[in-house]
Amino acid sequence: MTVVWPGGTLGIIGGGQLARMMALEARRMGYRVAVLDPEPDGSAGQVADHAVQGAFDDVEAGDRLAVQADVVTLDTEHVPAPLLERIEATTPVRPSAAVMRVVQDRLEQRRFLEAIGAPQPRYAPFSDAQGFREATAAVGYPCVLKTRREGYDGKGQVRIGSEADLEGARRAVGRAPALVEAFVDFEKEISVLLARDLEGNVRFYPLAENTHRRHILHTSRVPARVPAALVAQAAELGARIAAALGHVGVMAVELFVTRDGRLLVNEIAPRPHNSGHYTFGACVTSQFEQHVRAVCGLPLGDPTLLRPAVMVNLLGDLWRAGEPDWGVVLRHPEARLHLYGKREARDGRKMGHVLVLDDDTDRAMALAEDILAQLDRPTAAPLPARRKRSATP
Ligand code: AMP
Repeated sequence: MTVVWPGGTLGIIGGGQLARMMALEARRMGYRVAVLDPEPDGSAGQVADHAVQGAFDDVEAGDRLAVQADVVTLDTEHVPAPLLERIEATTPVRPSAAVMRVVQDRLEQRRFLEAIGAPQPRYAPFSDAQGFREATAAVGYPCVLKTRREGYDGKGQVRIGSEADLEGARRAVGRAPALVEAFVDFEKEISVLLARDLEGNVRFYPLAENTHRRHILHTSRVPARVPAALVAQAAELGARIAAALGHVGVMAVELFVTRDGRLLVNEIAPRPHNSGHYTFGACVTSQFEQHVRAVCGLPLGDPTLLRPAVMVNLLGDLWRAGEPDWGVVLRHPEARLHLYGKREARDGRKMGHVLVLDDDTDRAMALAEDILAQLDRPTAAPLPARRKRSATP
């Protein structure tokens, strides 16, 4: 079992905000960081020691990353398993290609969950038009059509209310292999976040209670307002999934809480997760440091929550009228601003988040929503220094 001590180099495939926050924590601990990202000057590349530009299926770029790294991890599921297997021949990859093969295909993930007896929505795969009709009939209405691969933040997903929606739904996802799953009329959504080290030790973070807008995470409230018995069930479920996968690193499991109080697995994310961003500021050890520790073979850190918190995502829509007025956030000492350094603000793109720390999470939620509403106002007065830009990029 290879341990990579500070001073060694962490390679990250994917250069988004998760990689950026991993890199920031890794560098604080004295690691060097190399990032493979299709984009130049991406979120993580800006804070890494080495940036390798290349697509996720670019074998030569993967080799260049592997040469520089003592251990390789990733910030996205959408890395082809063959590339990971190739890197594994020379450098440890954590989580492994085998874990990613299961998780990156929604159908494989559902079959895996079924095999370990994890509760989940009814689902049915299909391969042709006839099979699609049979699958929806077997699952029942309403249901959701989901592509097997490449889906995130509601992409590649269509809700089907009745037979009348079938044709439109199939057109919307094209011929991509897909499955149908029951639409869950949930009471709330929560996520269990844990880390598993090389020896199989597991540490749990407090559960997050999540809301979504347009299928994209909107807020996380921590701790989640759920009975203690459910907290224990979620932890057991998360640990069972991580152990059965042989996962190493941070893992989030998104769960539906049904109206009769049961848990159903929505999906597994074998990496730090948006609903765990609160840990970066509200916990002794952030999910990003925890992930670095786990994949480097170090002992896990203390996940204790220092203060209850609410996280709200900042999406690209906020930039429609130009750079938002960050004074709106910064004048509240209990609010912390995180921006990911993305050059282009597109609608629905995750650009940053705000973390509000407060023992009273209702008050934290009200402030988070208020800050967001004010940021959304194009007339907000700018901070004096805000417009200053250096002449060089
Ligand atoms: P996903 O990309 O699968 O995590 O889906 C994003 C969001 O869409 C979830 O967090 C839910 O709010 C919603 N969603 C996805 N699948 C279902 C389902 N089977 N039933 C109800 N809501 C769903």
